Amino acid sequence: MFERRYLPVVVVVLVGLLAAVVALWAIDRGTMKPSSANANNATSSEKYEWKLVTTWPKNLPGLGAAPENFARYVEEMSSGRLSIRVYGAGEIVPAFEVFDAVSQGVAEMGHGAAYYWKGKIPAAVFYTAVPFGMTAQEINGWLHHGDGLTLWRELYAPFGVIPFAGGSTGVQMAGWFNRELRSAEDLKGLKMRIPGLAGEVFDASGGTAVRIAGGEVYTSMQTGVIDAVEWVGPYNDRTLGLNEVAEYYYYPGWHEPGAMLEFTVNEQAFLALPKDLQAIVEYAARAANQNMLDEFTARNNESLRTLLASGTKLRAVPEDVLQVFYNNSLVALDALVENDPMAQKIARSYQAFAKDVRAYHEISERAFLNARDKVLPPVNLTGQ
Ligand code: CA
Repeated sequence: MFERRYLPVVVVVLVGLLAAVVALWAIDRGTMKPSSANANNATSSEKYEWKLVTTWPKNLPGLGAAPENFARYVEEMSSGRLSIRVYGAGEIVPAFEVFDAVSQGVAEMGHGAAYYWKGKIPAAVFYTAVPFGMTAQEINGWLHHGDGLTLWRELYAPFGVIPFAGGSTGVQMAGWFNRELRSAEDLKGLKMRIPGLAGEVFDASGGTAVRIAGGEVYTSMQTGVIDAVEWVGPYNDRTLGLNEVAEYYYYPGWHEPGAMLEFTVNEQAFLALPKDLQAIVEYAARAANQNMLDEFTARNNESLRTLLASGTKLRAVPEDVLQVFYNNSLVALDALVENDPMAQKIARSYQAFAKDVRAYHEISERAFLNARDKVLPPVNLTGQ
């Protein structure tokens, strides 16, 4: 038998065992939620506050709307359990330090363009734009129903960063020039703000590519630091007032046929979220991604009409210039993947998808646009 002094201990143990049995029974009947089971699977009421740093000036329409929309979607879907505050370039870190800030946990999230990190991760350019590459519709297919996103996550994994598609502008414009481009000869000595792989193409084509963040392109053009600038397209370019500092507006955006933005998330911060908040982050990013393309599609037309009415001169990039750009793009791509097995793996996936989708788009997208043009009256870009 046991001594009387042990009685209280035995009672406590027995009560504890009974409570455990009742709890297990209740869990089995679904009347009680397991409180100490895997916390990630439970819906907790814990609140999270995140910082999201961007490469854009605060409240920039278009590109800068995506992080604001994303934060609002997350707030609404999580009933405020995950609250995300958006910071413009320079508020916490400068534009070109967004990736490092997310990697180091200075901020839980970032919004920007992957090709800004080309110096650190050359293959990142595939996730913004490849000259003469895929359109927004095609890239979204590759990312979400091909290998694109999986490879992107593999590419950023060594930095503890998880990428999500963060919006697309659709086909951009080739940019603003303070003089006319009549042939490839006119590229010589031209200084242009043009990032990513296209910057290398521009260098190889006789010009000089300059790296400038969005907040500074207007002044750089105005003060003659550069002679030409590509930014986005009519809607966003008009917002920056680029028509005030250059006369000629060239199309099409050979260099950014479907420029894709990115949301980046610090891996540790993401893994610390309950599963339902992780899902909310994933789907809010997906919604913000599509919404950007929708907005540019809706607003570019009117903005272009306004620009043309205010004196902007619209010009097509001459064919010989396009050919020079294309030839140099092949060289730049070869140099990019040389000695970089991960870049080779991404390039193979990108190019195989692009080839397949292009073949089908010949008889779908292009064939339809051609067919529509045959039967509808011609369009006038000035809308008159
Ligand atoms: Ca651009």
